[in-house]
Amino acid sequence: MSQAKKALAKTAAKQTPTRGGKRLRAAAVKTYFNYIGGEWVASAGGDFFENLNPADTRDVVGRFALSTAEDVTRAVDAAKNAAEKWRLLPAPRRAELLFRLGEILLRYKERFASDMTREMGKVLKETGGDVQEAIDCTFYTAGEGRRLHGFTTPAEMPDKFAMCVRQPVGLCGLITPWNFPMAIPSWKLIPALVCGNTVVIKPAEDTPLSTYNLVKACEEAGIPAGVVNMVTGYGDPAGKTLTGHKDVRLISFTGSTATGRIVASACAERNAICSLEMGGKNVIMVMEDADLDLAIEGTVWGAFGTSGQRCTASSRVVVHKKVYKKFVAKLVERVQTLRVGNGADPQTDVGPVINADAVSKIMGYIEVGQREDRARLAAGGNRLDTGAAHANGFFIEPTVFVDVAPEMRIAQEEIFGPVTAVIPTNSLEEAVEIANGVRYGLSAAIYTQDVNRAFRAMNDMYTGIFYVNSSTIGAEVHLPFGGTKATGNGHREAGTQVLDIFTEWKSIYVDYSGKLQRAQIDEVNFE
Ligand code: NAD
Repeated sequence: MSQAKKALAKTAAKQTPTRGGKRLRAAAVKTYFNYIGGEWVASAGGDFFENLNPADTRDVVGRFALSTAEDVTRAVDAAKNAAEKWRLLPAPRRAELLFRLGEILLRYKERFASDMTREMGKVLKETGGDVQEAIDCTFYTAGEGRRLHGFTTPAEMPDKFAMCVRQPVGLCGLITPWNFPMAIPSWKLIPALVCGNTVVIKPAEDTPLSTYNLVKACEEAGIPAGVVNMVTGYGDPAGKTLTGHKDVRLISFTGSTATGRIVASACAERNAICSLEMGGKNVIMVMEDADLDLAIEGTVWGAFGTSGQRCTASSRVVVHKKVYKKFVAKLVERVQTLRVGNGADPQTDVGPVINADAVSKIMGYIEVGQREDRARLAAGGNRLDTGAAHANGFFIEPTVFVDVAPEMRIAQEEIFGPVTAVIPTNSLEEAVEIANGVRYGLSAAIYTQDVNRAFRAMNDMYTGIFYVNSSTIGAEVHLPFGGTKATGNGHREAGTQVLDIFTEWKSIYVDYSGKLQRAQIDEVNFE
């Protein structure tokens, strides 16, 4: 949790929380523990941190175990103890438990979505989508229990057999962010389990409840004690201890590029495997032949869905000069209709941002954009903090900068808020150059009716994900997910490609000739 959110938590703790006009007694705030070796246990220090609703910080969602290095070590020990039995359980049997987990997630979907909106802020439709993604991931990946394909191949010597099989990497540490609080943990947890690994998961400090719900569902599904362990708390010490622990063979991390670099260095120090999913600065290109209304809808959804707090958010829109004026006018008009408020209200289009630090960072970028004369603020730009709907939450108006120069900070850096930058262009070639001209490489999109242009852009954009006539967001679980450059380190989650993160290949040679055969040395003749 950010320092600012902590400070607010302290202030909030002094007040009696209220909800729906009713006074809540402190006892109404639920306490949540770590899950270690199949037991729900307090942290070694007995401390807790508060999880606050970003739409109304008077609402304390829960008190969660504030984990220390000792807690992490206990969780790692539990995962280590369970590892051998879990590895030896046949993969189809492991998958049966996961199919059961999928059914449980489906049963509780509505409750989990509403918990998520309360702790994270995004609107109910989107949190329903987040839980659905976890469900899809669970069913899809559980199917791998009956595949986990390896391969056979000819050996170069006679009477010799060659094959390749997947083996689990061992004990996995999973470190996750707050913006997809159930989908992202599931993308890591489910493949890790089906592949035969045991795990310790450390969710983001702003959204531990959704991971608690996922882990509780694992318990209900009958996943054996010690196979899944959860420690809640801050990056330092909980995440840091997990990353540095000698028994953790793999760290799967999703979060900012800055933290990812720290995690990668710590893993390199002890030769641990490390898969990273990090920041983005995604782009929509709108060509002069595009269906403009469709492009506007895609931009609004991509830039302001989840209040712009998606790694795939459309934070840049590069628009051909021939349709630029029309596009900008329509976009601004549409953005001004968006209703900002509590995500639990069905009328809301755009929920709050996650915490006070996020407000400062995003408002800082809006100031940067306004200071430069190479851009113009065309919509939004303000924090909303007055009136009953906004006074106690972290709300920012959906914001559009136009006439932005590609090298400006607001067009280069990840803002992770409801802000987008519209950049004019003269041609597809120039648009692609601008689009590729950032340090990140997660997602890109083009709106055009011309198949040649669409394929040219598909071919020339150096990103992990590309869309045609659709926004930069909307990944499906059976396709690989991840990015190039500063977004990742070459791995892909989801799809079957995720199996390459959570397994290592073992090449096996079986010589049934009954004699010593030396590859590359002995001659094998036709006679
Ligand atoms: P963050 O980097 O602040 O935190 C991510 C996680 O790392 C949290 O659980 C945090 O506690 C932990 N952590 C912090 N310091 C650590 C340390 N020293 N050692 C180990 N763990 C540590 O990121 P965030 O603010 O939670 O998430 C937002 C970022 O995540 C954005 O940059 C966004 O683009 C990125 N993201 C990327 C993807 C993707 O798939 N590429 C998906 C979602 C979010």
